[in-house]
Amino acid sequence: MRLLVVEDETKIARALKTGLEEEHYDVTVARTGEEGFFLINEQTFDLVLLDLMLPGRGGLEILKTLRQRGLQTPVLILTAKDAVADRVEGLDGGADDYLVKPFAFPELLARIRTLLRRGRPDQVLRLKAADLDMDLATRKVTRSGRPLDLTAREFEILEYLLRCAGRTVSREMLARDVWKETSRDPALDNVIDVHMTRLRRKVDAGARQRLLHTVRGVGFILKEGGP
Ligand code: CA
Repeated sequence: MRLLVVEDETKIARALKTGLEEEHYDVTVARTGEEGFFLINEQTFDLVLLDLMLPGRGGLEILKTLRQRGLQTPVLILTAKDAVADRVEGLDGGADDYLVKPFAFPELLARIRTLLRRGRPDQVLRLKAADLDMDLATRKVTRSGRPLDLTAREFEILEYLLRCAGRTVSREMLARDVWKETSRDPALDNVIDVHMTRLRRKVDAGARQRLLHTVRGVGFILKEGGP
């Protein structure tokens, strides 16, 4: 698996390269936004680790440009910015996930594995609810035949909700089974809510019936005909 690390801080870049190579990833490091942008356009990577605060062209600008051009490579943002507004901006910009520095290396590895997970040995290759259709093989999702442009993370959440259709899914379940968090982190609840808001907008906007509902104080449910 080829990873691109876009990070200007020498110490962090070096630590990431060493640590990830020990895990048998093929790691390329870009030290400026321009270099990262160039490499992503020139080569194929399975995942990009993107710092937001870069000299010259910032991470967010790079991300937005790449997504506008239709690049689907999963992007994990590494950022010292901890404010909710920055997280939302990153996710809105097309990031699949983010990690706030300083982070624990095992957590980074877990996030990377989640984003890279492909071709799971599922028996079911198609999940459906009303006119919502998810093809697990091609990872295409449609609503009334209209394709939905989901990030890798949004796809995972929707898949989970579809597998639990008609049952309430708590934030705790999403944290454990989608984000693979073993302990409760209240900050993650915000992230989950941000993802759900974006996902709901994509799935239910313009549709005749809503499928994604909030269960107050508990979590969410995917259900036909109301919560
Ligand atoms: Ca930086």
